[in-house]
Amino acid sequence: MQTQTVEFIRTLYRTEGFIALHEPRFGGNEKAYLNECIDSTFVSSVGMFVDRFEAEFARTVGAKYAVATVNGTAALHISLLLAGVQRGDEVITQPLTFIATANAIHYCGAEPVFLDVDRDTMGLSPEALKRFLEEHCVVDEKRCVNRASGKTIRACVPMHTFGHPCRIDEIKTLCDAWHIVLVEDAAESLGSYYKEKHTGTFGTLGAFSFNGNKIITSGGGGVIVTDDEALAKRAKHITTTAKIPHPWEYAHDEIGYNYRLPNLNAALLCAQLEQLEGFLENKRDLAETYRCFFAGMGVDFAAEPPHGRSNYWLNAIVLANLEERDAFLEYTNAQGVMTRPIWKLMNRLPMFAHCRCGDLSNALFLSERVVNIPSSVRP
Ligand SMILES: *Cc1c(COP(=O)(O)O)cnc(C)c1O
Repeated sequence: MQTQTVEFIRTLYRTEGFIALHEPRFGGNEKAYLNECIDSTFVSSVGMFVDRFEAEFARTVGAKYAVATVNGTAALHISLLLAGVQRGDEVITQPLTFIATANAIHYCGAEPVFLDVDRDTMGLSPEALKRFLEEHCVVDEKRCVNRASGKTIRACVPMHTFGHPCRIDEIKTLCDAWHIVLVEDAAESLGSYYKEKHTGTFGTLGAFSFNGNKIITSGGGGVIVTDDEALAKRAKHITTTAKIPHPWEYAHDEIGYNYRLPNLNAALLCAQLEQLEGFLENKRDLAETYRCFFAGMGVDFAAEPPHGRSNYWLNAIVLANLEERDAFLEYTNAQGVMTRPIWKLMNRLPMFAHCRCGDLSNALFLSERVVNIPSSVRP
């Protein structure tokens, strides 16, 4: 299986050389916009590309407002602060995610509570959420309280793993009923839809990432989306040092952050966003090719769930067990075909080992078996 897979991936990318997991593609107006940006001298915190990108991004995902940030982690951090997450709160999320999700919760002085994922979407399970809330929580004066800790569960952060939309409408219904603010970690899911609605637009706030390995990139970058005008204004304010606009005075009205996206990066992003449709088509075509190949091999391929449309950011297979997974990683990487295991569970890392968890059977199952395979847009 390993040998045939490596040969197959080499035919897909038509090279005998190294094949990365996910490389960026700069085939559009990147250089033109970068030059334009440099010539304008506005390379930093203000400039037309930031404004243009925010408007175009909001239109792309169907959100009213978008606020660009320096990276996706910063977008998540600010989204959680704006959701009202404070020191001593608890925030529900999934243990199977990139570290940024849990770190952003910690930056607010809150503690993550890890609940299980669904096997098929690899995203937060509405059933696990419902069970946890009914068994452990009460609503007290429009506040969800964890009876065991006495702490407020302020927010819930589901993540759309590898671009596959999780069951976000069921999660939203539960969050609304329990007075929990929904913040989506949509870092991996630009171009992914739950039914007809773009991921990241179900919650009060949603965060996206434009890190070098994401579906579109500016080297580093992120964005917060929301339909709430007041939240959008506050997001802009506190990501730009909370400076009160004034012709010359330096006055700031609260602790702010230097989390703005430089205009240079926004120039790259404007060019990348123009190519999104093409990237999506290319990636969905690749995923279909993989799906057929692995079906023939009797290997479980992570396909999009029936309730939505995935951007197939990273393709993934589910191997039989930990030993098979490790053997596959060993062989493919030795052959110059980059593959990577899914993340270790957050509650297994020293910083989050003390956090509360529900039953995590699905997350544990997947964490020992899932491997990502090369997924770059093909030339
Ligand atoms: C990429 C990513 C982020 C944000 O990462 P940055 O590198 O800070 O842009 C957050 N959450 C998940 C799940 C991610 O994959």
